[in-house]
Amino acid sequence: MRSAAQPNHVPPEASAPPDEVESVIIGAGIAGVATALYLARAGREVLLIDRGDPWGESSGANAGTVVLFIIPPAVLPLTFRTLALWPALGAEGGVHTLFHRKGGLSLAMTAKEDRALRNWFTVQERHGIEAELLEGAALRNYAPWLGPAVMSAVLCAEDGYVSPLEAGPALIGLALAAGVNMQAGTPVTGIAPAGAGWRVETPAGSVRCRDIAITAGAWSGQVSALCGVGLRIFVDVNMLAATEPFAPVLDRVVTHIGGSLSLKQFDNGTCLIGGGWQGKGSLRDGTRSVDGGNLLQNLGFAAKTVPALREARVTRAWAGYEGIAADSLPLFGALPNRPGIFISACARGGFLLGPALGYHLAELMVEGRCSVPIAAYDPARAIRPA
Ligand SMILES: Cc1cc2nc3c(=O)[nH]c(=O)nc-3n(C[C@H](O)[C@H](O)[C@H](O)COP(=O)(O)OP(=O)(O)OC[C@H]3O[C@@H](n4cnc5c(N)ncnc54)[C@H](O)[C@@H]3O)c2cc1C
Repeated sequence: MRSAAQPNHVPPEASAPPDEVESVIIGAGIAGVATALYLARAGREVLLIDRGDPWGESSGANAGTVVLFIIPPAVLPLTFRTLALWPALGAEGGVHTLFHRKGGLSLAMTAKEDRALRNWFTVQERHGIEAELLEGAALRNYAPWLGPAVMSAVLCAEDGYVSPLEAGPALIGLALAAGVNMQAGTPVTGIAPAGAGWRVETPAGSVRCRDIAITAGAWSGQVSALCGVGLRIFVDVNMLAATEPFAPVLDRVVTHIGGSLSLKQFDNGTCLIGGGWQGKGSLRDGTRSVDGGNLLQNLGFAAKTVPALREARVTRAWAGYEGIAADSLPLFGALPNRPGIFISACARGGFLLGPALGYHLAELMVEGRCSVPIAAYDPARAIRPA
């Protein structure tokens, strides 16, 4: 299926790329658009290429949930950066509410989950996450719309969401305004050495460049293989469902400590229901569709958590690919033995982290160093043995 997003700024279909640019970015989802934006702002001449519509894959089809409490410590520096960048990008792009800071509740439904929630609360407190543990009457008073099955919750005021439908046009508009040359409908089919740099090949022609960023999401392994680097990338087929608008109930973003639920109600009254339940299909054959059985379980879990959802009609459900590294951390940095080729892909929470990953990849490409620690994200850890 097509993604949920249809940005206003999609440029016309591809013509031949320029003969030469400084930097080529392959893939125009959040990772590529953000990298291109910050590179162009640093003075680089940037060509951003996508084989389809910019923002047309995961970045246009995701839940946009920002839940600080569940972020692993290894990506907290990126997360703190991204929490500052989202509102700034919104203000610059004319969408002042781009980051909807609603606060979030991470829930436990069983005694085992309650123990896990409390343990994780202690870990995250040590890492500077400000949160509050709620249970019993305090929880019921705070969120009377939660069902009796909910045992305890952690409240984090920084949580919220970014709507991919708002973010796509805003960020693509900013990138174009910064001077990024964007080329849609142009698959990259080859990457070859050319003098001190590289030549990127497409069916519409080839372009020489000094450096390259691979930001092709779940397809990043296919693209890195074009320059002879095989990466181990796992691909989930995630599902989401949207309801008809109904009276405001949920004034917070809701997630589950076991990862089975992500829930939010937008200002227009519609509710978005997800939580990592898997659809059908595979990247290899390009198929993806909703799995009816898993969707029903997802909706049942949501209705048990927030009983008002029993009355809500689901109008649409969809599935999208999410590329993930084995340890769920970003594949981020320079590709080994390919000077001038960089990658930013496959982070769990890649949409939330997108602006920070783009900011720091541009920093790395321009200055040759990064102001946050990136050793844990080294793409070398995912290289397939030859
Ligand atoms: C249903 C669902 C829900 C999700 N919910 C959340 C969430 O709540 N919070 C969160 O942070 N993350 C979430 N994610 C994950 C998030 O969507 C991704 O991590 C993020 O969007 C990845 O962005 P990207 O730019 O790396 O990839 P994409 O957005 O997939 O962009 C990659 C681009 O590369 C292009 N491309 C591929 N091959 C080539 C080629 N050969 N030549 C040129 N272009 C190419 C594609 O056309 C595509 O446009 C969810 C994902 C899904 C599917």
